[in-house]
Amino acid sequence: MRVPHGDGGPSRSELERASELIRGADRVVALTGAGISAESGVPTFRDAGGLWRNHRPEELATISAFERDPRTVWEWYEWRRGFLATCEPNEGHRALARFLLRRGGPAALVTQNVDGLHTRAAIEEAGEGPPDAALPIEIHGAIARDRCNRCGMRAEAEPLGDSLPRCAECGGLRRPDVVLFGEMLDGALLARAQDLAARADLCLVIGTSAVVYPAAAIPLATLHAGGSIVEVNPRATDLTGAAAVALRGAAGEVLPALLD
Ligand code: NAD
Ligand code: ZN
Repeated sequence: MRVPHGDGGPSRSELERASELIRGADRVVALTGAGISAESGVPTFRDAGGLWRNHRPEELATISAFERDPRTVWEWYEWRRGFLATCEPNEGHRALARFLLRRGGPAALVTQNVDGLHTRAAIEEAGEGPPDAALPIEIHGAIARDRCNRCGMRAEAEPLGDSLPRCAECGGLRRPDVVLFGEMLDGALLARAQDLAARADLCLVIGTSAVVYPAAAIPLATLHAGGSIVEVNPRATDLTGAAAVALRGAAGEVLPALLD
């Protein structure tokens, strides 16, 4: 096992303990947050630099902002789409994709991220058409897609023009297919994720501060069903106390050491 070097990373014994738990688990589910994409250069909302034209994402990525001023919200998402096109999956996304491909079976990855980097890593690791096992359940949506704000029809995103994009079916306003602050998550997706977690022996929680509900309840479903939690995060979170092992380190270093 290659132990990541540098200060403050997890010790060999912590990595071995986590690795034993993973080997001993029949079913593993992974839950990821913005932290797994940090090493790809995607800023987390809470990090400094999470500002755009003096707007805070928490004030911009809201349903009320979209209803009040769709143009500004659209421009921000257009900027994020352009920015994400310059980012690549990192070693953390890749190691997780290889691990899930090796294990096979139904989907076992739940992400709060909308950046599409898990899907890109799965395609790169598996070739075209990766199996479900490595494809994420995207409970907060996908920034690369549009959805009609009126009838819900989904469509491939198009570049933003002078007029705001409209639905081909009903003429309603289109919007990025992501969950905005102030909106409910898709109930069916969330139920699938909860069900996966409740049936898992182990939940691997990576790069999420685990404060945003209902996503934060997913690892608890594993715990309450008698399974355990392994956390990968450079900092302690509200979930750390409940984890069997907390690996302090960056996902891009810890995941290859843990999973490959
Ligand atoms: P968050 O609540 O998911 O917190 C980020 C966590 O990642 C923190 O606990 C931090 O310690 C940890 N972290 C930082 N660097 C890491 C690394 N290299 N490896 C592992 N962990 C690392 O994130 P948030 O940014 O406050 O986001 C709130 C909501 O917005 C979430 O739903 C989030 O997924 C979404 N969001 C998504 C993206 C994306 O799609 N990439 C980006 C920003 C925010
Ligand atoms: Zn429509």
